[in-house]
Amino acid sequence: MSIRALVTSKAPDGVATTLAEIGAGDLGEGDVTVAVEYSTVNYKDGLALSGGRIMQSMPMIGGIDFAGTVEASDSAAYKPGDKVILNGWGLSQTHNGGYAQKARVPAAWLIPLPDKFTTREAMAIGTAGYTAMLCVMALEHAGLTPAKGDVLVTGANGGVGSIAISLLSQLGYRVAASTGRMDEADYLKGLGASDIIDRATLSAPGKPMQGERWAGAVDSVGSHTLANVLAQTKYRGVVAACGLAQGLDLPGSVAPFILRNVTLAGIDSVNTPREVRLEAWGRLARDLDPAKLKSTVTEIGLANVPEVAARILKGQVRGRTVVNVNA
Ligand code: NDP
Repeated sequence: MSIRALVTSKAPDGVATTLAEIGAGDLGEGDVTVAVEYSTVNYKDGLALSGGRIMQSMPMIGGIDFAGTVEASDSAAYKPGDKVILNGWGLSQTHNGGYAQKARVPAAWLIPLPDKFTTREAMAIGTAGYTAMLCVMALEHAGLTPAKGDVLVTGANGGVGSIAISLLSQLGYRVAASTGRMDEADYLKGLGASDIIDRATLSAPGKPMQGERWAGAVDSVGSHTLANVLAQTKYRGVVAACGLAQGLDLPGSVAPFILRNVTLAGIDSVNTPREVRLEAWGRLARDLDPAKLKSTVTEIGLANVPEVAARILKGQVRGRTVVNVNA
């Protein structure tokens, strides 16, 4: 039986991504076969499909996450009919990803879908939302509570940003949203942001120490933005850094760390240990209202993925894009 998949291959001018029919033998190694229902388009998928050194070999099926139903399993951990999620690990790097009707993966990479979510809702959250929760958990681990003051979210209209705003506001935090799209203020307020800040006020080089504004921050942008956020973080505040939408650099100073006791918490969602993933998804099931996500979600089919992947790198995608692999 043939399987519809979106395959990225080397091309004379970089890479090319095309729809193809593949066989079960092309899916790769693993002990569980999953009938994929939904995948998503994350910033990293944009990088992968633009040839941005994510895929370590080609041809490769992209898609860093998926949710679906187990079809066959050689592992005692899963049986046919189980609903599962996969975020990160080797997907779209060393192993075929979620942009296909089926995936064959190691059981150790899967986690059970929380009862509260459908597979579509899980992918509306996707890697961006799970990363937002890892950021929230890091802020809490460093002692942040709503009573300590305002929390800033940068890259607010993006996937991580949108869900971080929603989560933090539901947890009782007063949230400020930094964005380059001030015309989306109503959307951001609908998610729970109290203040909207023009990202231009954070994206240029700034002083190493600035007025204390934030008890905590979730930064998906990096570069000068992260340096300025650190410089504006209150005494004993904490910043969770997960992204690089402005840049990979961090052109700041150690002043916030050694003079204000600021904590910079790094976030990696790809190789997060299983017990932390289970905790993060458990917390998402407890703390995130799926109905609140509706305004963030756009659904597309496999054929539309390359176009959205190109737009996400230009900062032109709002919220989360869910891919219905059977559409
Ligand atoms: P999105 O593209 O959905 O969001 C990024 C947002 O950043 C944009 O919507 C935009 O928000 C803002 N932005 C874009 N370009 C710039 C720029 N030049 N300067 C300042 N702000 C900019 O991506 P995701 O939410 O999927 O991912 C966000 C980041 O987090 C990415 O860098 C991604 O690689 C990273 N990430 C890391 C993970 C990890 O494991 N560490 C996991 C998931 C994501 P606005 O228009 O509101 O300004």
